[in-house]
Amino acid sequence: MSERTNNELSIEEASARLAARELRSVDLTRDCLAAIERTDADVGSFLEVTADLALAQAADADERLDAGRDVRPLTGIPIALKDLFVTAGVRTTCASKMLENFVPRYDGTAVARLREAGAVLLGKVNMDEFAMGSSCENSALGKTRNPWDLGRVAGGSSGGSATAVAAGQALGTLGTDTGGSIRLPASYCGVVGMKPTYGRVSRFGVVAFASSLDQVGPFARTARGAAALLECVAGHDRRDMTSIDAPVPAYTAELASSGDGRLDGVRVGIPSEYFTDGIEADVDAAVRAAIDQLVALGATTVPVSLPHTDYAVATYYLVATAEASSNLGRYDGVRYGMRVGDDDGLQAMYGATRDAGFGEEVKRRILLGTYALSAGYYDAYYGKAMKVRTLIRGDFDAAFADVDVLAMPTSPGTAFEVGARTADPLSMYLSDILTIPANLAGLPCLSVPCGFDAAGLPIGLQLVGPTLGESVLLRAAAAFEDATDHWRRRPALAGDGGSGSSD
Ligand code: GLN
Repeated sequence: MSERTNNELSIEEASARLAARELRSVDLTRDCLAAIERTDADVGSFLEVTADLALAQAADADERLDAGRDVRPLTGIPIALKDLFVTAGVRTTCASKMLENFVPRYDGTAVARLREAGAVLLGKVNMDEFAMGSSCENSALGKTRNPWDLGRVAGGSSGGSATAVAAGQALGTLGTDTGGSIRLPASYCGVVGMKPTYGRVSRFGVVAFASSLDQVGPFARTARGAAALLECVAGHDRRDMTSIDAPVPAYTAELASSGDGRLDGVRVGIPSEYFTDGIEADVDAAVRAAIDQLVALGATTVPVSLPHTDYAVATYYLVATAEASSNLGRYDGVRYGMRVGDDDGLQAMYGATRDAGFGEEVKRRILLGTYALSAGYYDAYYGKAMKVRTLIRGDFDAAFADVDVLAMPTSPGTAFEVGARTADPLSMYLSDILTIPANLAGLPCLSVPCGFDAAGLPIGLQLVGPTLGESVLLRAAAAFEDATDHWRRRPALAGDGGSGSSD
């Protein structure tokens, strides 16, 4: 049992120590930078470390904390961002050759809100190129490995956001989730990852993949940490027309006052379609044990059915590719993106730029999406997918008439081996079979660590809530964490003092 170092604290623990001035943000930030130095050659979370910026922000935060001026839950907390958050003066690559040298001149809304809160920006972390993938292997700029087993994938697309927290490099991170890209890597890396309700967090200044599905969300060691990040970045933004104009609950205060950690009266729906033969035995057992734990805390379970679940993956890959093909049209080397073959006329330049700038998976998506939207096929593919999407949403609406949350595995299995699915896009796509439906329905959901398989790899419990039901998800996850210690375990990384056991 080794003592946890500062960089391994949860956000709420660090925040309390910072406020009590038992810990200085500059020291905490130095500990995170040292952890990055020690472990990043192995895990490869970071595409860019902004050490000078971080230390300057930490010094500002310490002044704020010393003076007791405008202290918020994230003041002085070191965080990192998936490299699709537009950051003023800091390279924003989307892990693509296309944007390798793109230095934005403004901050996106979520980033601006973090800066205002006094959070410390450690840098930008790896992802699948343009957020397309489930393993973080589609990055054109770096390799990210699972801190629990470097021969395994981190999960994707927000792989770097998950590994940075799991490896103790950052206390929290932001990612995006279009079809599972927050929850899947959170589950594979043994951390909490949350996708809020579609529109809860502004997408202004977030590079778009599939605009009707993309949503920003937090990673942290704990549900309370995720709540602090969400509370900071959530809320209406007139620069995103899909942003929801509804007040943001004080998630952290709600969790602090929910008191006894009981879940009496919470009705947990168990959707039969998510517990099938395709689920690995260890995952099934851990998730069922987690549900028993929720019941021990006072919740009741209700069997429910989401009958259109089987159509979700096919529907998603029509909607997501169609929207991607339209969003990625801007990378033509003129408006955005690298320039190739300047003299050969626009058309040649456009083709050459896209061919050289995009990786295989991105090109595959653009082709699929362009086809699905083309004249003669639109009704058969995209139009049909939109109708099925409505049916999937209807399944969830019907279930939430009877329950407060749904519980299920985040993924059918634990982290797979590096390279195992790269040659077979369909098997990669199926990694998200349990996460995609909530994106199609726009619902809030999270993954919380609920155990380990026989090989010692983390397993995630997924909770899905009704529209704007983030509070109940966080409350259930926090109560679960308080009653268990899965979240305390941490990987033993080479060169790190970690023990691979709980503290
Ligand atoms: N793995 C899914 C895809 O490749 C989801 C990605 C995401 O959520 N950004 O599209």
